[in-house]
Amino acid sequence: MAQKNNQTLSTCPVCGVSITDDGKVNFTVGKPGTRAKLYARVCKFNQKPGCINQEPELIGDIAPADSFPQLKDISLPGIQDKPN
Ligand SMILES: [Zn+2]
Repeated sequence: MAQKNNQTLSTCPVCGVSITDDGKVNFTVGKPGTRAKLYARVCKFNQKPGCINQEPELIGDIAPADSFPQLKDISLPGIQDKPN
């Protein structure tokens, strides 16, 4: 399918994710997200030269929901105090 309009699509060579002109990020899996989401999930960890999503002005505010859930914070009842 051809791109509609003349929207520029930039692909981050490091993360392999494409970002549209208006800041919509097309992830390889899942729904499109924002630059903040991309940063919180991918670019923050890559930190390599060439990543096009490292500019705070473009990334904006990162909401807690943009990051992956912290599994270690979920405590399962009954596992820690198992009798021997
Ligand atoms: Zn990147």
